[in-house]
Amino acid sequence: MSVNLQTPIDYLKGVGPNRADLLRKELGVHTYQDLINLFPNRYIDRTQYYKINQLQRNNADVQVIGKITGFKEVAQKRGKRLVGTFQDDTGTMELVWFRGQKWIRENLKLNTTYVAFGKTNWFSGKFSMAHPELELLDEHEQNMRSAMQPVYPSTEKLSNRGITNRMMSKIMQQLFIETKGRFTETLSDNLRSELKLINKDSALFNVHFPKTQDLLSRAQFRLKFEELFYIQLQLIIKNLIHKSKIKGFPFDQVGTHFNSFFKDHLPFELTNAQKRVLKEVRADLGSNAQMNRLLQGDVGSGKTIVAFMSILMALDNDFQACLMAPTEILSVQHFNGLQEWCNKLNINIKLLTGSTKTSERRIIHEALENGELHLLIGTHALLEDKVKFKNLGLAVIDEQHRFGVAQRSKLWHKNTSPPHVLVMTATPIPRTLAMSVYGDLDISIIDELPPGRKAIKTVHRFDKNRLKVFRFIRDEIDKGRQIYIVYPLIQENEKMDYKDLMDGYESISRDFPMPKYQTSIVHGKMKPADKEYEMQRFIKGETQIMVATTVIEVGVNVPNASVMIVESAERFGLSQLHQLRGRVGRGAEQSYCILMTSHKLSSNSKTRLETMVGTNDGFEIAEVDLRLRGPGDIMGTQQSGVLNLKIADIIKDNDILQLARHHAKSILKIDPSLTLSENQVFLHTYKQLGKYKNIWNYIS
Ligand code: ADP
Ligand code: MG
Repeated sequence: MSVNLQTPIDYLKGVGPNRADLLRKELGVHTYQDLINLFPNRYIDRTQYYKINQLQRNNADVQVIGKITGFKEVAQKRGKRLVGTFQDDTGTMELVWFRGQKWIRENLKLNTTYVAFGKTNWFSGKFSMAHPELELLDEHEQNMRSAMQPVYPSTEKLSNRGITNRMMSKIMQQLFIETKGRFTETLSDNLRSELKLINKDSALFNVHFPKTQDLLSRAQFRLKFEELFYIQLQLIIKNLIHKSKIKGFPFDQVGTHFNSFFKDHLPFELTNAQKRVLKEVRADLGSNAQMNRLLQGDVGSGKTIVAFMSILMALDNDFQACLMAPTEILSVQHFNGLQEWCNKLNINIKLLTGSTKTSERRIIHEALENGELHLLIGTHALLEDKVKFKNLGLAVIDEQHRFGVAQRSKLWHKNTSPPHVLVMTATPIPRTLAMSVYGDLDISIIDELPPGRKAIKTVHRFDKNRLKVFRFIRDEIDKGRQIYIVYPLIQENEKMDYKDLMDGYESISRDFPMPKYQTSIVHGKMKPADKEYEMQRFIKGETQIMVATTVIEVGVNVPNASVMIVESAERFGLSQLHQLRGRVGRGAEQSYCILMTSHKLSSNSKTRLETMVGTNDGFEIAEVDLRLRGPGDIMGTQQSGVLNLKIADIIKDNDILQLARHHAKSILKIDPSLTLSENQVFLHTYKQLGKYKNIWNYIS
């Protein structure tokens, strides 16, 4: 190949420094390669030419052949518009310009045949087209233009500076001329023939200049597959390298702690899903590789006990373990829960959070370093440099979406060689996304709730039905149940939100007066000790109502609480609502989630509420969430490259993703270092990818 695709875009004929600058800044196109990979957002069918008398009202993006017979200026409120009369053998219509009128008058030729292209409007008895794309019929016929007209991504700046869609097509055309449309094939013949994928040259040509719908579809399929395939290939290779390079501590014995807990202290029978995940963890810990596992399980699916039993495996092999949780409340709760089990097993467990006293800290630091302390529970405080382990064997991170990647990797370095890592999340990341974002982690899923759980009943109520809701609360409390009432707290709105919370608390206290009713309140502005005190009162059942902000969103476990009321539910995101709902339904009783909203709801809010009412399945909710918000907002995905997909769509192309992952996996299974001659093309492309983009670095 004569043209190097890494050539800066400035060198392409017709681009030049100014346009190159715009392309770089506005579209991130630096090289020929970037330009080829700038794929159209959509296509317009230009196989049809319309006669003026065939035009339909609201006929989108059509092309009409005709002549401009004259111009006139029409005054309007501000400035004037230029109107050209456009005529064919069936009638006349108007072409309208609001800007650039001087240029139009000087450059367009009267009584010459043009192809006008654009959206038609119906305005006072006439069809008109504003700012049409105009092309002389002669040129139109000569252009290497496809029937399906691609529409390229653009910005206001680009179109203002004359880089219109037509210009983009021209630039693209020039690129194909200079490269002769020859590009390096990136998929093996075997794979292509197995999946009936068209070759690279033909795919690139047809995605930019499609001749027919069918060719376009085949081109897109091939390119989407390729894109997803190489992402998966990179992730899987990374995982393999990781496993071979980084030695883990082999926990080869299942010891006394584990066995004794399993035989004598198991508080309930494990679900099959819990057993399966424990086996997966056990297999990792028993091997020589370092475990890097993501445990996904819906709220209430029982991840804690799986974590604890994994911790026991570490302790049984004379290693220490830690469990890190994102909030103080959650750490305290984990500590209290696990301490009970630890006492029975003579395991030394401590809690370390931001509010741990200095004297206590010193004791913890020392016991950690000399190995007396087996298990440390806590918040980010665990990450402080002063916290040094004698031999940390397993780090568990709960609600991992709350932590950044940097924090994850900091835990890694708590040891000379990295501990096994188990990250747990209940914020259900859709499987597809998890696969692409966390493809380098092994994933375990608890897809089964403990038995006897009744599905939570969720309803949506408007504020005006508050009295009925209060009556319902009263009945539930009479039955001995406890109630959460949660208020939104958004940073930008903090003052107002605190006021709402306090008003709410007052009105609850009025409607549910002491001494018959006791109400707790917990929010972020309280001192940790006060928060903890109020939490404890609620956990012990001394208070029946807990008024709170979303501080209780993650992980709080009070099985006797059976009603979750979310105030201003329209202001919460789906995953937050799902998390909140997960605070109830933890005991054997029927639980309820009541979503209170005002009357005015956006269509997005409506969808969220309907989804919550319609399903309890966290994964289903996550899919809707992803659809509503796009992957960009899902925590942890920002830099993952999922957003940088050039042609594939992580949601719509899920089936292609599965296919790509399947093939990447099976190729690497047979030939993990890609040494077979038929796989050279993969190896070559993989190396190129590493050279030119480093988007996957961020994944630990
Ligand atoms: P999450 O996955 O949300 O962290 P937890 O680990 O807090 O869930 O468990 C939720 C509740 O379910 C706890 O009260 C826990 O004791 C209980 N639980 C967990 N596993 C089982 C099981 N196999 N059978 C019965 N109850 C269980
Ligand atoms: Mg939990």
